[in-house]
Amino acid sequence: MLNVASPLINGLKITLQHLFKKPVTLQYPTERPVVGPRFRGLHALNRFHDRSKCVACYLCPTVCPAKCITVEAAEDPITHEKYASRYDIDILRCIFCGYCVEACPVDAVKMTENFELANYKREDFAYTQEMLTDKK
Ligand code: SF4
Ligand code: SF4
Repeated sequence: MLNVASPLINGLKITLQHLFKKPVTLQYPTERPVVGPRFRGLHALNRFHDRSKCVACYLCPTVCPAKCITVEAAEDPITHEKYASRYDIDILRCIFCGYCVEACPVDAVKMTENFELANYKREDFAYTQEMLTDKK
């Protein structure tokens, strides 16, 4: 005869054990998860005076495996420094690999803890330089 009692008791024991453990689920969005220190969320551009720190060297669009970064360079007429007149990321194509951050020679781009990127329209996933630059 098939003995079903033993697996049944073992299963009930596991259920009982879990009843007294701290739950691992969060009541999101009222409870916020703590992300790891090396979490790779939405990008942000560090600010340098009145604009982003990006010097439009084109390294990050070159290394980006998803080809989702668009950079256009301009030159300051007074200081003759190069800067990015356009810096866009199509976040729908981004695979959050972090290569752009590693490639940047001036520490202009970083990845934040922001993982809440859901949206309704495709165009809302195109992040411009203005949207990405730190507001300080
Ligand atoms: S994280 Fe990777 S895929 Fe996304 S923009 Fe940077 S290099 Fe491209
Ligand atoms: S690597 Fe850095 S400086 Fe060069 S284009 Fe990208 S963000 Fe700008």
